[in-house]
Amino acid sequence: MLTVTPVRAFADNYLWLVQGLADASRTAVVDPGDAQAVLTALEQSGLSLDAILVTHHHPDHVGGVAELVERTGARVFGPAAERVPAVSTPVRGGDEVVLDSLGLRFAVLDVPGHTAGHIAYYGHGALFCGDTLFSGGCGRLFEGTPEQMLASLDVLAALPDDTRVFCAHEYTLSNLRFAMTVEPDNADLHVWQGEAASLRERDVPTVPTTIGREKRINPFLRSRTDGVRRSAEAHAGASLASPVAVFAEIRRWKDGFR
Ligand code: ZN
Ligand code: FE
Repeated sequence: MLTVTPVRAFADNYLWLVQGLADASRTAVVDPGDAQAVLTALEQSGLSLDAILVTHHHPDHVGGVAELVERTGARVFGPAAERVPAVSTPVRGGDEVVLDSLGLRFAVLDVPGHTAGHIAYYGHGALFCGDTLFSGGCGRLFEGTPEQMLASLDVLAALPDDTRVFCAHEYTLSNLRFAMTVEPDNADLHVWQGEAASLRERDVPTVPTTIGREKRINPFLRSRTDGVRRSAEAHAGASLASPVAVFAEIRRWKDGFR
């Protein structure tokens, strides 16, 4: 199994450090918004940085890229459809990222919605999905449409249930508060809420989650269930004819949820 360690940055970002299977002293980092946090983690553990994988252009995901390249010479993979500093290999859905020195390979998935060119990396039973899928939630639609985001989430939901999902933020507890408002009778959701609350009390990350769990508890992956549809219709005060309409309604609902 892949060894993946969170580097914490800002209020709630996780910059994921992935150790090579071929050589555990070499790493790749996903979405390094803060160079110093990564450099400190590398130094403390005696690891070197070979590659940087970027999911989308937001500053909390790319802010450290240029400095890390300068300091380590790491190669940078990033979304071909977005402007990201210092990218050496632009990639898009269908491409494969091959990291020979690490013995790692990742398939690139197109997951537009949060941003227009957002990508995710999938390999070795792990998914690095940036701000597309969170535990109990999904990214806000800054640049994409509900149609695009639902299609992107469908791509992720089709991955094996035991896929470990390395989201870029610790948003779980606030997401679950909303999820329980949408689906108050979802027993799996209550179980995960209890587990997540106790992890957070001990300051332990709730991430990675898994695709299997998210399919059971995440309202944004459940737009096709009767329960989520009924809740969305009650909130909208109208019947919602399609899964996209249900998804759009719960995304709007969450945007204003406190
Ligand atoms: Zn973002
Ligand atoms: Fe972010």
